[in-house]
Amino acid sequence: MNNVTIVGSGNWGSVAAKLIASNTINLRSFNDEVRMWVYEETLPSGEKLSDVINQTNENVKYLPGVKLGKNVVADPDLMNAVKNANLLVFVTPHQFMEGVCKRLVGKIRKDAEGISLVKGMEVKREGPSLISTLISNQLGINCSVLMGANIADEIAKEEFSEATVGYRRDKAAAERWVQLFNTPYFSVTSVQDVEGVEMCGTLKNIVAVAAGLIDGLKMGNNTKAAIMRIGLKEMLAFSKLLFPSVKDSTLFESCGVADLITTCLGGRNRKVAEAFALNGGKRSFDELEEQMLKGQKLQGVLTAKEVHEVMVTRGWVDMFPLFKAVYEISSGFLPPTAIVEFNNNIPHHI
Ligand code: NAD
Ligand code: 13P
Repeated sequence: MNNVTIVGSGNWGSVAAKLIASNTINLRSFNDEVRMWVYEETLPSGEKLSDVINQTNENVKYLPGVKLGKNVVADPDLMNAVKNANLLVFVTPHQFMEGVCKRLVGKIRKDAEGISLVKGMEVKREGPSLISTLISNQLGINCSVLMGANIADEIAKEEFSEATVGYRRDKAAAERWVQLFNTPYFSVTSVQDVEGVEMCGTLKNIVAVAAGLIDGLKMGNNTKAAIMRIGLKEMLAFSKLLFPSVKDSTLFESCGVADLITTCLGGRNRKVAEAFALNGGKRSFDELEEQMLKGQKLQGVLTAKEVHEVMVTRGWVDMFPLFKAVYEISSGFLPPTAIVEFNNNIPHHI
């Protein structure tokens, strides 16, 4: 019997719990209960978030107004949450994943399998690492990924969406993840390109920051489309330089162009970047994130910084003028208007 634990309980983590719980209750090979690790916090009412989730069946902070399913159990104790699970779904903001993995070393089942829904990368002195690789290496488990055009609040309302599972070798494991996530309103397919899927999910957040700046500068759809086109080409070129095995066809899956479009139109990275440009860059992204997102986290600004570090180390900076501009603007080195001034330097391959 398969036991599922979700490691994370933010906006997308809670929707993942809802999707999975609607399936485990109907699928014979899965235990009904879905455990969800909650990074515990005290609400303004003085109650613990995990207690309120268990009493109301609702994540009142990160996904208010949506019932998760009675078979979702919130657990603030990470070790207790994972101890019986053979299927681990990782879904915290990427900056917390290394700390979470460190705590899990030696604490999970030997036969566990993982899937990462985390969009972002880890950059160390030794070089960049995919989050799925970080999980695999630290915990010694096989780790697939699931990415797609998946604004969580829309999926919570059961509006039709698609997603892509990326796997390395084990097709059977990928199919089990597809079975666990797929619903009539959430259509999941799999491709054998874990790096391509994960790089798309990671890099589109940088392009979404650029798209938000365009909105804040009150520029139109042509400009935004140009930014998305250039961003898509930089995503592909950067992914292939890091991982030559990345397939062009992956960009046409939900994890690629579809996620780029939805995030540039309606995501949190876009929203906060728009406010940043509207304020002429005078209020930092950190300040705006805190004020606008109520505890939810942006990934694009941190990813732009991490990708810039990789570009500097490898001598690639001039090959990726859009990524470079997003880094320089979000770090306060250039004004928001610089987002449409970088294009004189676009190299031919872009
Ligand atoms: P979120 O941004 O809504 O919430 C932040 C979460 O981080 C909260 O659960 C909070 O408790 C937790 N947290 C805060 N400090 C922590 C710490 N020190 N250690 C561990 N956890 C801590 O989270 P989310 O939207 O579920 O995002 C998780 C991942 O999913 C990200 O990589 C994101 O890019 C990706 N994603 C999000 C969406 C979406 O629409 N929200 C869609 C697809 C993918
Ligand atoms: P944001 O983090 O910008 O909201 O993007 C969510 C997402 O990844 C949609 O697929």
